[in-house]
Amino acid sequence: MPRGDGKLSHDLLPGEKGPQDACGVFGVWAPGEEVAKLSYFGLYALQHRGQESAGIAVSNGSQILVFKDMGLVSQVFDETSLGSLRGHIAVGHARYSTTGASVWENAQPTFRATAHGSIALGHNGNLVNTAQLAELVAAQAAAGNGRATQVAATNDTDLVTALLAGQTDDDGRPLTVEEAAPRVLPKVRGAFSMVFMDENTLYAARDPQGIRPLVLGRLERGWVVASETSALDIVGASVIREIEPGELVAIDENGLRTQRFAEAKPRGCVFEYVYLARPDTDIAGRNVYLSRVEMGRKLAAEAPADADLVIATPESGTPAAIGYAEASGIPYGSGLVKNSYVGRTFIQPSQTIRQLGIRLKLNPLREVIRGKRLVVVDDSIVRGNTQRALVRMLREAGAAEVHVRISSPPIKWPCFFGIDFATRAELIANGLSTEEIGTSLGADSLAYISTDGMIEATTIPKDQLCRACFDGEYPMELPEPELLGKHLLEAEASADADGVGTLASGVGAADALKRP
Ligand code: SF4
Repeated sequence: MPRGDGKLSHDLLPGEKGPQDACGVFGVWAPGEEVAKLSYFGLYALQHRGQESAGIAVSNGSQILVFKDMGLVSQVFDETSLGSLRGHIAVGHARYSTTGASVWENAQPTFRATAHGSIALGHNGNLVNTAQLAELVAAQAAAGNGRATQVAATNDTDLVTALLAGQTDDDGRPLTVEEAAPRVLPKVRGAFSMVFMDENTLYAARDPQGIRPLVLGRLERGWVVASETSALDIVGASVIREIEPGELVAIDENGLRTQRFAEAKPRGCVFEYVYLARPDTDIAGRNVYLSRVEMGRKLAAEAPADADLVIATPESGTPAAIGYAEASGIPYGSGLVKNSYVGRTFIQPSQTIRQLGIRLKLNPLREVIRGKRLVVVDDSIVRGNTQRALVRMLREAGAAEVHVRISSPPIKWPCFFGIDFATRAELIANGLSTEEIGTSLGADSLAYISTDGMIEATTIPKDQLCRACFDGEYPMELPEPELLGKHLLEAEASADADGVGTLASGVGAADALKRP
């Protein structure tokens, strides 16, 4: 679906969890500009990437202030809060939690005091060596390095912030953030597109695989970094280039400095092209919308259907449905109307309303559907509950036949790099054949695009893409399953509280977080 509209991140039954995005980041260095407002609008364009909490940190050259809270960007900030965030550097974040619970303490940017001032950091992605990083932080704290915080964050990101804040050289001299980053970043494994800052400098860093996107843009009077090019567009910045995999960029009054902290081994997430990124975003030089249309074309060639009308599951399936219709010659039409204002709400639907299910989000256009043999195009199937309800709804609305076509292959493996699909056991494609899934959905037929067809549609070489959720080939070694998991640090912190185990929960001691 076109994202950035403040809606839930997938076409779900209320209460159902589909693929969830893993954060949007935005950073700006622009003296003379309203950097907090630029960050607000940048995050607004990235809202689809994380809808649980939002935050902006601003530096005026001598002090960093952080404002963050649970909720959508538009719920967290107003004119007053933005007006109080004055300065020339800002870092913003919209969160979906992957490691660490969805609580205020884990909202970002994370903040730590350093020997030289302070650091604020926002992270898109998910780390796979969290346990190892926690040990490094604990060792750092045991050596008396690193200022502490009373804010008990339990996310992977705070560990990196703590490491950046507490590094020393061999003689024990505290390092600046710029000195610490090339030492710390090579120790971090997993997916990370990070923006961070001290009082005077904006930094951007991307993991060696470049799994999540991160782009650099130029304002008339400054620089911007953001998760997606669409966020540069909204603030009037021109796209300069991507932050390269394994690259660290620093921006201040002396201009832009770049260095490599690791060799680039590009393995960008193919699911960004399928579903995650906005269609008006370009990643690695390829436009996302065009990739999705091409996926639809290839799907039509690979899995034709005898039908009267192609419709999309709005709006995530729309570009692929357009491509399917173009290639098949079957007319494209709107068969479903989406309620654009069903978004993340703090009002829980009652049981009666919940039973309305998919109708809270989608309503069929009966006059269009009645008597037709339909091809319904969607981007992916996770558990299948939404598609099952959709097929039933279309039949009730008079569809003669329902042929489901999916513009990504079956999702069979979990993602450890920032997308929370479901557990492996919950994935409908894990254990069922395509025919069995089609029967389970109640469809007349079901077909997925091939993995090669999806990859070709992106125009990115296969060996430069992560497609592990489809084929199980992870782009890096993973630790044992017990060392992965969303609540790893909460579990360890609670072990600490019981007096067992060691951990980062006791790293220091000053309440560094400031809320205006
Ligand atoms: S496992 Fe799937 S969703 Fe996760 S990074 Fe790889 S391609 Fe993207």
